[in-house]
Amino acid sequence: MVKVYYDSDVGLDVLKGKTVSVIGYGSQGRAQALNLRDSNVNVILGLRPEGSSWKRAKEEGFEVYPIDEAAKRGNIILMLIPDTVQPKVYEQYISPFMGEGKTLCFAHGFNIHFKQIVPPPTVDVIMVAPKSPGPRVRELYQEGFGTPALIAVYQNASGKAKETALALAKALGCTRAGVIETTFKDETESDLIGEQTVLVGGLIELIKKGFEVLVEAGYPPELAYFEACNEAKLIMDLIYKSGISGMLRAVSDTAKYGGLTVGPKVIDEHVKENMRKVVKTVQSGEFAKEWIEESKSGLKNLKALMKEIEEHQIEKVGRFIRKTAGIEK
Ligand code: NAD
Ligand code: MG
Repeated sequence: MVKVYYDSDVGLDVLKGKTVSVIGYGSQGRAQALNLRDSNVNVILGLRPEGSSWKRAKEEGFEVYPIDEAAKRGNIILMLIPDTVQPKVYEQYISPFMGEGKTLCFAHGFNIHFKQIVPPPTVDVIMVAPKSPGPRVRELYQEGFGTPALIAVYQNASGKAKETALALAKALGCTRAGVIETTFKDETESDLIGEQTVLVGGLIELIKKGFEVLVEAGYPPELAYFEACNEAKLIMDLIYKSGISGMLRAVSDTAKYGGLTVGPKVIDEHVKENMRKVVKTVQSGEFAKEWIEESKSGLKNLKALMKEIEEHQIEKVGRFIRKTAGIEK
């Protein structure tokens, strides 16, 4: 079993007298800046003066500086801007201020693991990755609890990198829920494999293909939407709360029997073979290379794929049903 760190295992001393510069005020940036401030950490923000977050962060009481100025003033720099823009922003505004005594902290390992950002060896490089979207990280903190998180150390120049990561996690509220140590490699690769095979890639295809087959068989698209998509949430909520067995206990015996005997024939060994191929392309860096090129060349393929999905019948029917059912405003 991995070690799980809780509040009582972690001190905040390593943050005393330090300034934490949060770069970005989006999903994670805002939540983390607010939580750190409420934990009495000295927080400043680094934003683009022309960006829309600047005004909001000021209104919410933060000291806000251009990114280079925040990188200069901060001892600990939290990189909380989109992964795709981080390398450029780092190169231009942050790297000139990287040197002994600085800590660079990420919430996802991609740019470090795939060497899109290469900090000097004199700098501590760590990760604190809350396992929730930003607004939830904030909400749970305000409720007096927290979000579980991963921490990792990539470079430990000061000898205190892990202590710093744990202290940040505590100030974010994460040690209330539990913090696990991992590596940049494992976090990055497992995140990509998970989102491609199951969470984003797998689920979309499962739902879409299930919907298409029902419609092909002559069932009304509205009914197909309920069966292949809407109810997937209800089943997932049960799994989230009480595991696969808990979900099975809550559905009918017919559903249990049909699901357990037919499921493995639908999601069969071929699918698992395909998943193993995903593991290989992620581990070899082949996917990262493709994605970096796509991202640099203006996301042409991604935009086309988004358009294709938006125009799929399931999206049209889905919008109609969500509106009439009051699910989507
Ligand atoms: P986001 O898309 O919400 O960040 C947007 C913010 O980034 C903007 O408000 C702006 O302040 C800044 N920004 C955008 N473009 C910029 C540019 N060109 N130059 C300078 N600043 C710019 O980002 P996020 O989803 O919070 O992700 C931040 C990091 O957290 C990423 O590494 C991501 O992988 C990680 N992460 C995100 C989540 C999540 O729930 N969103 C969860 C875990 C980890
Ligand atoms: Mg992911």
